[in-house]
Amino acid sequence: MSAPEWDVIVIGAGPAGALAAHQLARCQLRVLLVDKRTFPRWKICGSCLNGVALGALETAGLGHLLDGLGAVPLQRIRLGLQGRELELALPAGRSLSRGRLDLALSEAAVAAGAVLRAPCEATVAGSHPAGREVLLRSGADVQSTSARVVLVASGLGSPALGPELPIEIRISPQARIGAGCELDAGVKGYGRGTIHMAIGRHGYVGLVRNEAGDLNLAAAFDRPHLIAAGGPAASAAEVLAEAGFDPLPEAAAATWRATPALTRRSNPPAADRVLLLGDAAGYVEPFTGEGMGWALVGALAVVPLVLQGQQEWNQGLERDWARRHALLIGSRQRFCHGLAFALRRPGLSRALLVAAGRWPALTAPLLQHLEGASRQQITPEPCR
Ligand SMILES: Cc1cc2nc3c(=O)[nH]c(=O)nc-3n(C[C@H](O)[C@H](O)[C@H](O)COP(=O)(O)OP(=O)(O)OC[C@H]3O[C@@H](n4cnc5c(N)ncnc54)[C@H](O)[C@@H]3O)c2cc1C
Repeated sequence: MSAPEWDVIVIGAGPAGALAAHQLARCQLRVLLVDKRTFPRWKICGSCLNGVALGALETAGLGHLLDGLGAVPLQRIRLGLQGRELELALPAGRSLSRGRLDLALSEAAVAAGAVLRAPCEATVAGSHPAGREVLLRSGADVQSTSARVVLVASGLGSPALGPELPIEIRISPQARIGAGCELDAGVKGYGRGTIHMAIGRHGYVGLVRNEAGDLNLAAAFDRPHLIAAGGPAASAAEVLAEAGFDPLPEAAAATWRATPALTRRSNPPAADRVLLLGDAAGYVEPFTGEGMGWALVGALAVVPLVLQGQQEWNQGLERDWARRHALLIGSRQRFCHGLAFALRRPGLSRALLVAAGRWPALTAPLLQHLEGASRQQITPEPCR
């Protein structure tokens, strides 16, 4: 019986995959990190790191990267709804373009000893003696390799799972579609250091300046409305007008990209020698800007299970990951579900905004949530 070629293959070099690869390479494992795109790459994302994300990077010893990359401190969130505005001081947060962040994290993984292969599309295939087989496709070339444990961190809509895996992806029928674009630094308004969040009946648009001063737009829209409006640029213009925010004519000519349906869950988030993390394991909606926090916390939490799985695999590890994942991320996702419910009801969201303006103490749970005050402490593996 031949031994697997790798100790771990990590599929996807977004925040979840790159940080997991970094941590595991520091534990002296032979780590292959694979991404189907070449870096740096643009990605639809609000590009805001909240307290949870910042804490996870600090815990991993990578907090210094943000200063080096010029991440912009975020001081305020400005909410706009039906012509009313509410501005709240943010407890924590920084904005940084995903091109820069993800490149820096994958470089950190390589510096720690991981091998990066990109562009290369991976699919988890059948069992291998003492491991899992993974197919790697670069252009017309397809190779087979194997690992004792495979981490699937391939984001939304690209599960990288072959048909043999008993994992079902459930998509909510009400799931919104994400969309985004970037406008250059010359566009007027929408000042730096603030998350500008326009809320409409059929979606919302978040606007933030990144380290280069460019204005990043990230949005979520109801699918029927997106189609009826004629695309993301028109939907975004409607949401800005509804919220009472300044129009952005430049957005009509920008290149918009869209995501698959956002609200989804992979059930279970593990199978034989395979663990899912980040968006690949499940995602709610981007309103609270938490996806990267969940992805990074998941990457830290998965390390002990991958280390145990090097000796021997058993179903207890799969159950353990499902339990840990639910414990770490499930309660935060439930909060986001609640918020997403309120945002879909104009009367309720208006009442909440008015009440929050009158009694600022009501915003405490939201601010605590944004900061990640309730986050569980994760102790990194003392590998190096
Ligand atoms: C509109 C919008 C706004 C958002 N705003 C914020 C925000 O402000 N703050 C925040 O924290 N989060 C935000 N998010 C969420 C955040 O973008 C995601 O949660 C985060 O990127 C998840 O990281 P990940 O590593 O799981 O996946 P990703 O970042 O999606 O990375 C997955 C990687 O896997 C690669 N890949 C996919 N399939 C394969 C394959 N088969 N083989 C090899 N590689 C593969 C992809 O190329 C990609 O690089 C937002 C999301 C949306 C849609």
